Amino acid sequence: MTPLSAPVLTPAGALYNQIFQSRTAAELLELARIKRFLEVWSSDDQLRDRLEAALVNGEAIDQICAAHKIDIDPRQLQPIFRLGHAHLRGTPSLADYPLALAWDRFIVTMLRYRDLIREQGDTHGVNLQFDTWRKRQITRCQGELRLSAASVVHPVVAFELSDGCSVGCWFCGISADKFKGYWPYEANRKLWREILGHTVSFFGAAAATGFCYWATDPCDNPDYPAFIDDFYHATGTVPQTTTAAPLKDVALTRRVLELSNTYRTTVNRFSVLNKKGVRRIHEAFTADELLGVELVLQNREATSLKANAGRARLRAAGKSDELADDHTTLACVTGFLVKLPAGLVQLVTPCRSSDETPDGYYIHAERRFSDGATFAKALRDLQEFMTLQIGMDDTLALRRDLKVV
Ligand code: SF4
Repeated sequence: MTPLSAPVLTPAGALYNQIFQSRTAAELLELARIKRFLEVWSSDDQLRDRLEAALVNGEAIDQICAAHKIDIDPRQLQPIFRLGHAHLRGTPSLADYPLALAWDRFIVTMLRYRDLIREQGDTHGVNLQFDTWRKRQITRCQGELRLSAASVVHPVVAFELSDGCSVGCWFCGISADKFKGYWPYEANRKLWREILGHTVSFFGAAAATGFCYWATDPCDNPDYPAFIDDFYHATGTVPQTTTAAPLKDVALTRRVLELSNTYRTTVNRFSVLNKKGVRRIHEAFTADELLGVELVLQNREATSLKANAGRARLRAAGKSDELADDHTTLACVTGFLVKLPAGLVQLVTPCRSSDETPDGYYIHAERRFSDGATFAKALRDLQEFMTLQIGMDDTLALRRDLKVV
């Protein structure tokens, strides 16, 4: 394929790349094994109980490790999985646990990488109106989203490459519709490249924060690797892949991982729906292959809570203990949501989910497009809704989540 332009690493991409390049193969393998153990520990309540009992009673844990295919000594990681990073960082006890120290250093840099993505969404003057509007939205979100705010990095664009999603998770935070079909690459290659070009013109290097899914799963589009290859050549970043169906077509997933592992610009994520899913993923992919893939554990036994948004919010109505009250959106884009099969582009920002905004984001305005020129016009039109000033006729009101007491 002819490159759209010479890819240039963004600061976030460069840091992510350096996380891997600065370590030896043996160090990376060690991190991959630690990560795999923590995934088993986090997803399996029985293992947690057995291991905890063995550690407290001083019993041999080799049998437990063999039964769960754990090839690292969990005793060396106790400060991580028994206390958590926050308790650990900066305490002298870390020096006694070299594996825990290695993992902690890895995670600290990964968090810095996440923060850089938020910074990278600023176009640095390529589009001053967008920058000012986005800063205002980030400030609002910091007050409104509470726990969710720290993890929302405000990417500037998301592209849907399918219509609906075949996975149908009960907890879907953005209430994805049933899968109806996908946007094929060959028939749309010219338009896709034009759309990427217009997106880069609008956002500059900030376009690299974009990704190619929303209320869709990447693995529902068999041409997904071709789309993200173009994205890489347009922006210098392989976009993040988040999929709940990494085993649907293992060859496709492996092509995505190969692309990601070749350029090392972005972390990927697999959502795991049940305990068996963790085991099957571990059987299908080596620990090494998945070092750059975060497993988002959605199974019942996992230690994480679901976001109170979308279908999860509807299902849990009245059962507040099921969901995290402070984690009220999974939406992260402050910018454009581009629904390619529908030829629709929307200006969106995250917000707390509510009866008015059940999926945790505002749609400020939307435009249709049918080719590259109308797409470019749609972006220009939607820019008018990035309001920076209060008009004489505007009615002021408190945000819905604020109350006068
Ligand atoms: S959470 Fe993701 S994979 Fe699950 S239904 Fe929603 S869009 Fe599909």
